[in-house]
Amino acid sequence: MSAKSFQQTQPRRNVSVAIIGAGMSGLCMAAKLQDAGVDDFTIFESADEVGGTWRDNTYPGLHCDVPSRYYTYSFRPNPEWSHMLPPGPEVQQYFRQVATERGMRSHIRFCTDVTDATYQDGKWWVTTAAGVEKFDVLVTATGVLRIPRYPDIQGLETFTGPTFHSSRWDHSVSLPDKRIGLIGTGSTGVQITAELGGEVKQLKVFQRTAQWICPWPNVRVSTRTKAAMRRWPWLNAFGYWFWSRFVRLIFGVAPVRPGWQRWLYQTQCRWNLRLSVRDRELKAKLTPRDQPMCKRMIFAGHFYRAVQKPGVEIITDPIDRIEPRGVVTADGTLHEVDLLVLATGFDAHAYVRPLTITGDGGRTLEEAWADGPTAYRSIGVPGFPNMFMLMGPHSPVGNDSLIHIAENQANYVMWWIDQLREGRIISASPTETATKAYNEEMKAAMPQTVWLTGCSSWYLNKDGLPELFPWDADRYPELLRAPEVTDFDVRTS
Ligand code: NAP
Repeated sequence: MSAKSFQQTQPRRNVSVAIIGAGMSGLCMAAKLQDAGVDDFTIFESADEVGGTWRDNTYPGLHCDVPSRYYTYSFRPNPEWSHMLPPGPEVQQYFRQVATERGMRSHIRFCTDVTDATYQDGKWWVTTAAGVEKFDVLVTATGVLRIPRYPDIQGLETFTGPTFHSSRWDHSVSLPDKRIGLIGTGSTGVQITAELGGEVKQLKVFQRTAQWICPWPNVRVSTRTKAAMRRWPWLNAFGYWFWSRFVRLIFGVAPVRPGWQRWLYQTQCRWNLRLSVRDRELKAKLTPRDQPMCKRMIFAGHFYRAVQKPGVEIITDPIDRIEPRGVVTADGTLHEVDLLVLATGFDAHAYVRPLTITGDGGRTLEEAWADGPTAYRSIGVPGFPNMFMLMGPHSPVGNDSLIHIAENQANYVMWWIDQLREGRIISASPTETATKAYNEEMKAAMPQTVWLTGCSSWYLNKDGLPELFPWDADRYPELLRAPEVTDFDVRTS
């Protein structure tokens, strides 16, 4: 059945929408609803401000590694970016501005945790501390990297100095006078090292696995360029188009199939290390054993420069335990530090959980995902009618702009919401068959990706398979362009 084959059966009806999360994707969904003239929506947000991961992460050196011109909503260009890769606080400011200028704040319930959402009698019953409210549609926009992962290291709690996760940075702690122990060298650890190396008394970086680093000088945007972007909006639009093609044609293809894009990225990483680090011992420490891109790609202009500054040490002996005065490595050395920063990543497989979502017939999402999170095109789950996920399992979260992905997902959700408004349907959820087939197809495509070439990363699920989109970045918008209605259980009366 084609997407157009529903017949209009009733006049346009009011559809109420609950969105969980006022981060990048929740605001995107809200904007799409507003543009379609849907005013009956509520965004539930557990914090006191919008921004999601950009609100939570405030560590020194934070920036987005997607070009700023492309890391924007297509419907809200930003001529004010200060750098080619936008600093974290600017990204957060951008989302705050979008929420304010579009009048979204009156729809947001700040400091409100949704504890439970249940589908019953054709509605979603959403529970918060304030009570229960019902909605026609539930959209989860809870982000991917939300729940900090704390390392399971013996004695961590005995350390006497301040200790915090990178996404919970305590800005009351002064840094220049400190000997800092930094655990983790993923995208976050690398950015922190690049920023703090040489700027603090000592920086001891505990590296369990070396990472490939791709150089990307973060060029400042001149005031003249900003003025030109303000004056001629088509320039901004061109920048968006250019960077979207650049990112998707190179970094959207490189990880998923062998070819010149992969060769280019891998060669750049290898030469970057070769040319940037002279000391043989340090170079050996920093040389990864796996292929570039097997873990998430890292772009950083200053990391290698920072690790060669006085007072910076890369420690590769495994951590044995933590004591009140510092970190003890397997060789018995006590590395004394004043402050411990845990850049140890996130639980990337939680998605909307621990919030309890109960679908048709009483089955919970926890039960539906007993074998790991799966979804139809990352958006829907069988048995959960009128529930849509933004940034759900297998969303293409590699190095494409997540904003671009969220927009495509929100457009897709809008198509279904329009069917509800037009009275063509009363509910829809993907079929088990279509969901299974989609996931099988993805599984079959995984072996050609670089993510399965022998490293461990947060991409991998408990079966050891990447929870990512295994095809070109351009394929995902194609898959979402026109809903295939036969892949859905649709109720029309
Ligand atoms: P991550 O990539 O999961 O890295 C965690 C780091 O902690 C790894 O180096 C890991 O070592 C280490 N680690 C974990 N447990 C440890 C333990 N018990 N002992 C020693 N080391 C331990 O986390 P992340 O760096 O926070 O980045 C997560 C994701 O956030 C990125 O991949 C990216 O998608 C996103 N991010 C994006 C940007 C951006 O610019 N757009 C910036 C920051 C983060 P192993 O490698 O050995 O596991």
